[in-house]
Amino acid sequence: MVKVDLDHVYKKYDNATDYSVTDFNLHINDHEFIVFVGPSGCGKSTTLRMIAGLEEISKGTLKIGGKVMNDVAPKDRQIAMVFQNYALYPHMSVYDNMAFGLKLRHYSKDDIDKKVKNAAEVLGLAHLLDRKPAALSGGQRQRVALGRAIVRDAPIFLMDEPLSNLDAKLRVSMRAEIAKLHQELKTTTIYVTHDQTEAMTLADRIVVLKDGKIQQVGSPLEVYNKP
Ligand code: ADP
Ligand code: ADP
Repeated sequence: MVKVDLDHVYKKYDNATDYSVTDFNLHINDHEFIVFVGPSGCGKSTTLRMIAGLEEISKGTLKIGGKVMNDVAPKDRQIAMVFQNYALYPHMSVYDNMAFGLKLRHYSKDDIDKKVKNAAEVLGLAHLLDRKPAALSGGQRQRVALGRAIVRDAPIFLMDEPLSNLDAKLRVSMRAEIAKLHQELKTTTIYVTHDQTEAMTLADRIVVLKDGKIQQVGSPLEVYNKP
């Protein structure tokens, strides 16, 4: 049900002379795990942000679940996004960080409580709900960021280098957790990374970008094991 279709999408920032994304054409299946790779500045974040509705699309069409989304507000796009820098609110507890988006959407207190505690259980955060982000480890903070996404029950996850601030060992365990969440929640996931191992282990398909253009789309084997 939740396909994401990018039909010949272009992006030119107002102050720029060149297009940052050119003729981006990609059809993402329900429950697919797509990984964007490519050098810094190739348009990965811009594309994610257009899907999330945080940047306008200059030309072309974005469809989610078959519906044109170009002019739909971010909050109505059924998308949860996880960032590299976690974007947690420092003055709020873990509980309130996870509850915030639900409060904004006027969920009932009981509903919020159930969703937050359930996500905390899944992510091993149940004993940390009263802590502030400053009193957490990097891995725990990243789990809270994931928790904020999970409580939304969004069918689409966008993740922009979510593990790049973690040390190597934590990256490996969080990678496995993200794969597990993707299976359990049945989300359609679009994931940006610089890490080839992450791309190889997580992706159904890898999209290789360069200078705002798609260079190649294929399975990890097709992209990395070319003779
Ligand atoms: P990546 O995520 O792959 O590093 P970005 O999507 O951030 O790449 O950037 C793609 C291109 O768009 C780059 O040339 C970058 O300088 C440009 N760009 C990104 N954000 C803006 C902006 N707000 N205004 C103007 N140009 C931008
Ligand atoms: P939340 O705490 O749930 O992230 P926000 O107040 O930050 O709520 O965002 C309100 C709405 O705006 C969200 O439903 C979301 O769709 C959209 N939005 C804001 N920031 C982002 C983001 N970084 N990624 C995706 N959507 C965003």
